[in-house]
Amino acid sequence: MSTTLLDDSAKIFPTVQMHRQHLHAHPELSFQEVETCAYIQRELSALGIPHRVVARTGVVAHIGTGTRCVALRADIDALPITENTGLPYTSTVPGVMHACGHDTHTSMLLGAARLLKERESELGGVVKLLFQPGEEKTPGGASIMIAEGALEDPVPEIIFGQHINPDSPAGRVEFVAGSMMAAADELYWEITGFGAHAAQPHKGHNPIMAATALVQHLQSLITQSRNPLDAGVVTVTALHGGHATNVIPDTVEMKGTLRSFNPAWREHAWQWLEDHTRRIAELYGCHGHLRIEKGYPPLVNDAAATSFARSVAESLLGIDNVGSFEPKMWGEDFAYYSQMMPACFWMLGGRPHTASTMPGLHNAAFAPDESAMIHGAALLAQVAVQALQR
Ligand SMILES: [Zn+2]
Ligand SMILES: [Zn+2]
Repeated sequence: MSTTLLDDSAKIFPTVQMHRQHLHAHPELSFQEVETCAYIQRELSALGIPHRVVARTGVVAHIGTGTRCVALRADIDALPITENTGLPYTSTVPGVMHACGHDTHTSMLLGAARLLKERESELGGVVKLLFQPGEEKTPGGASIMIAEGALEDPVPEIIFGQHINPDSPAGRVEFVAGSMMAAADELYWEITGFGAHAAQPHKGHNPIMAATALVQHLQSLITQSRNPLDAGVVTVTALHGGHATNVIPDTVEMKGTLRSFNPAWREHAWQWLEDHTRRIAELYGCHGHLRIEKGYPPLVNDAAATSFARSVAESLLGIDNVGSFEPKMWGEDFAYYSQMMPACFWMLGGRPHTASTMPGLHNAAFAPDESAMIHGAALLAQVAVQALQR
């Protein structure tokens, strides 16, 4: 069985590659994936796979019958980046690019759909395919798909997903059990002081003094309020205020991000950041306000689901093509599925074998090796088949 699915995936690779190059040339931003959604539906219809639209530009499809169900998910959206790869199928949409590889994710799930449809009569249940919009933008398409009932009728008992990875060679699959990606919250500060002549600081309250003190102080959230065994990051990424050498401005604006794994510490950090913003600003006679835009929860891989998927990958792809992934503080809205059922999200190497490095995710020159999709499509299909045989 295992060699057959990998062989068959190699046979259909030209079709998967055609999907990928079409989607790559026609990228659409989060929650605007109208043509992508239509393309997915056309391909599913051609394969005779029933499907419906959810979350406006997402698609849910079912292969097989029965009471048991496993789910496979791919995200479908692109990013606001101007492509700089020079590829013949480069983006035709100015300022929009598939720079996170979601075109490969979508194409591999379409490939897996084809492989599974050919084996529909042998499946021990239903494989639910989730083509999900809006991964790159809060609140994320996953939470909307779930709210609109994509995980109902039938309810999956387990879910798998994958992400292309520029840091490992094409076709190598990497797993990690437990926390894999972080909770990601956006931070927006406004520090309000009182403007004055720069030569008379005693007549004003300089928000730049408060803001710079706050930037320094924020790191004590990490060093003093966090168990060192829990990962956590707070990074200030923008600081804007003032315009002249002789004017103390009224306000300063700052932006940043909070990343964490531990839900209890995350809540503590929200409170700490609000409190300390207010108190540090007060020390300088200013008013400090922090708005927190809460993002995705942490992505946690189920231990049993991960060891199952890893063993499937080892027999399908060979032990040399399977490895371990070091968790990252990135965000990924597959996290919402991982809160609802046993889940495993793996990384699929996409770096050309001839290169020692390649431009990373969200880079305008990101160009993964398409041959990785042979392994990715085969593994999606194989975990679904075997999960339903368990
Ligand atoms: Zn991304
Ligand atoms: Zn992504």
